[in-house]
Amino acid sequence: MEKNIELVFLEYKEKRGVLTETNRLNNLQRGYEGEREFVKWYNDYVNSDWLFIEDYWFDYEGVMQTDFILISPKQWLVIDVKNYDCLFEYRNGKCYYNQKPSKKNIFNTMIDRTDCIRSIAESIYYNVKVDPVMVFINPHGKFIYDQLPALQIVTHNDLRDFIKYLPNHTPLQNWQTTKIQNTLNKYRTDYNAKFSRLQPQDFSRLNKGIYCNHCGKFEVERGRYSVKCKHCHTSESLEATICRHGHELNSLFHDNPEFLTTQNVFELMGQEISKRTIKRHLGTNFTLIPKSQLSYYVINS
Ligand SMILES: [Zn+2]
Repeated sequence: MEKNIELVFLEYKEKRGVLTETNRLNNLQRGYEGEREFVKWYNDYVNSDWLFIEDYWFDYEGVMQTDFILISPKQWLVIDVKNYDCLFEYRNGKCYYNQKPSKKNIFNTMIDRTDCIRSIAESIYYNVKVDPVMVFINPHGKFIYDQLPALQIVTHNDLRDFIKYLPNHTPLQNWQTTKIQNTLNKYRTDYNAKFSRLQPQDFSRLNKGIYCNHCGKFEVERGRYSVKCKHCHTSESLEATICRHGHELNSLFHDNPEFLTTQNVFELMGQEISKRTIKRHLGTNFTLIPKSQLSYYVINS
């Protein structure tokens, strides 16, 4: 399960000591953990053969996202996972988090997105049932309601049986899978949440240095071909470390692609690795865009 690009960006910001969007980062991290947990439960308990689509961003009269779609020849399940570690109430058609009212109604959003996915499904084959399922995955969250919304709710306690007893349809045939994937791809769009990246003048404010890829501590020892964490003893090849910092610069300064230079990677890594070595590994792994002033790299997609 890949992290979305905004989560990756905010984690880099936090690591470099310039994070201001703490709540946003916490929400995205919690959401990601919930989705990862769902995938784990699914893999552990599923007995039937469904096509499993994750984190689907699509444009159908507006951009929407769904965490998962499970697809069989007779039924599609549109699944949204909520990892709420709080008291969540649904009263008089309104949502409350720890008794604070929210302007957003997550159930209406869910029903809208399911309607759009139903239209997509019906364009592929007739007589398909498309149903919304909201999963409240956090074992510490509490959900209280005065009337149930018109969709299936699965709590942490029900999740194992929900997955275990999914209807066992005949599996999709290859040509059906291809047709479904082609149609989903037709509507697919990139991650669409709006967030602003750093600007070149922010570079001086970043904490510089190399941190461990495993535990995150800025305590690595440099060897000839690798770096090793003094704290958790994880080793990483120098090439992987350098590329990781290239990706980090690309994420932080995404609006300024020409910012991904040997010099900037050298500085971000705390001037601990020679520019020659950095240049060699960036050149092997990324594409060099020559420029008379300062050449830069782009990451191959
Ligand atoms: Zn470590």
